[in-house]
Amino acid sequence: MGVISDKKFVCVLGSTGSIGLSTLSVIDQQSDRFQVFALTAHSNIDLLVAQCHIYHPKYLVITDPDLYQALLTKVKANCLDVAVLSGPESLNEIVSHDDVDIVVAGIVGAVGLDSIYHALCQSKTVLVANKEPLVMAGNFLVDVAKKNHATILPIDSEHNAIFQCLSQSAPPYSSDQGILKILLTASGGPFLNTPMNELRNVSVSQAIKHPKWNMGKKISIDSATMMNKGLEVIEAHYLFAAPVDTIEVVVHPQSIVHSMVQYVDGSTLAQLANPDMRVPIGHALNYPHRARLNVKPLSLGDISTLQFQAPDFERFPCLSLAYESLSKGRAAVVGLNAINEVVVDAFLEKKIRFSDISILIESVMGDFNAPNPNSIEEVFSVNAVARESALEGLSKFKYVESKEVR
Ligand code: NDP
Ligand code: MG
Repeated sequence: MGVISDKKFVCVLGSTGSIGLSTLSVIDQQSDRFQVFALTAHSNIDLLVAQCHIYHPKYLVITDPDLYQALLTKVKANCLDVAVLSGPESLNEIVSHDDVDIVVAGIVGAVGLDSIYHALCQSKTVLVANKEPLVMAGNFLVDVAKKNHATILPIDSEHNAIFQCLSQSAPPYSSDQGILKILLTASGGPFLNTPMNELRNVSVSQAIKHPKWNMGKKISIDSATMMNKGLEVIEAHYLFAAPVDTIEVVVHPQSIVHSMVQYVDGSTLAQLANPDMRVPIGHALNYPHRARLNVKPLSLGDISTLQFQAPDFERFPCLSLAYESLSKGRAAVVGLNAINEVVVDAFLEKKIRFSDISILIESVMGDFNAPNPNSIEEVFSVNAVARESALEGLSKFKYVESKEVR
């Protein structure tokens, strides 16, 4: 274990979410190593203020501008010595601050792209959980990082596992790493064994209840449809410069093996840990060192056997849609992500059924056509067009299906 010195200043984007809370839990254990510089939330001002009492950041950001006054009032009432900013553009300002060493990207969805981009432009070390921006613009972000001597460290558990199994250090990776295959493990989510004819009527609360991980709503639904694994295939493709046909999904319901890398010389390396996001977050925060963390160690004696199976593409059409989008090009990938975000929102709002998610994505993707983006700005445009298409598809779909759904 290397010698660790210097306290690092950390921006926790999305501190009120599941990734944010896991990050703060690691920081709790390493307060001699890390100091919170900024905390951000979209709407949860009560939790943001509670976190401010504990972590004493220099800045609080509330991205919903309508909540600025309410947050300021609370900050004053609590006599907190902190600067308050609001609006999505404040995230860019905060991650670019000279004093910031590390940015933890724990916002959900495409809205997180701009702040990751700004942090990389300012040569920061960015720990990325927020996978949607990597899916939308992974190739551009890896290039921006390279150009600005910034570092992207994956904390999505599978990508962190792959990162740990690679012989090269942090991204960007060359295409010649001697990799035969990346084996991306998937829990299979809550409906791995649910009879197919019951999937149509599963409720939002059943879909959100992941058997192994406690996560935000959007990623929980993505896990239930396995779109999450599809997005992760794309994330791995960009992050590790891995051709699509070298990335294979393996269902592993126990969520102990977080992914594997199979090399051309016959070796397969795996990273194993209990399903606890503090493991990948702690690894990346301390990288390239290893720090002692208070997490439950793995007991292989208790586990005894590890189970693996091939994914069922018929049960999980979203996984096929993700591979298909990659074969169509970058615009299709941005489109897939945007359409999925709109459609998952509709499911969470109980406007459509669970099985409608993949039907709708496939139908909107079928009509979606946009030129491949050549810059981050163009990614934003394609994203906006795709969201529009999805909203239109959704309104037509509701119209056609309304009698049956309601
Ligand atoms: P949560 O829904 O739990 O948290 C999302 C966070 O983002 C909250 O702090 C939320 O603030 C904030 N937020 C929501 N909308 C906006 C917005 N429009 N602008 C700015 N901030 C916003 O999500 P998770 O923590 O589960 O996931 C975060 C990201 O990490 C996702 O991309 C997910 O795919 C990825 N990830 C998550 C894992 C997990 O274990 N949770 C594992 C691997 C990847 P507020 O609370 O105020 O709404
Ligand atoms: Mg993951």
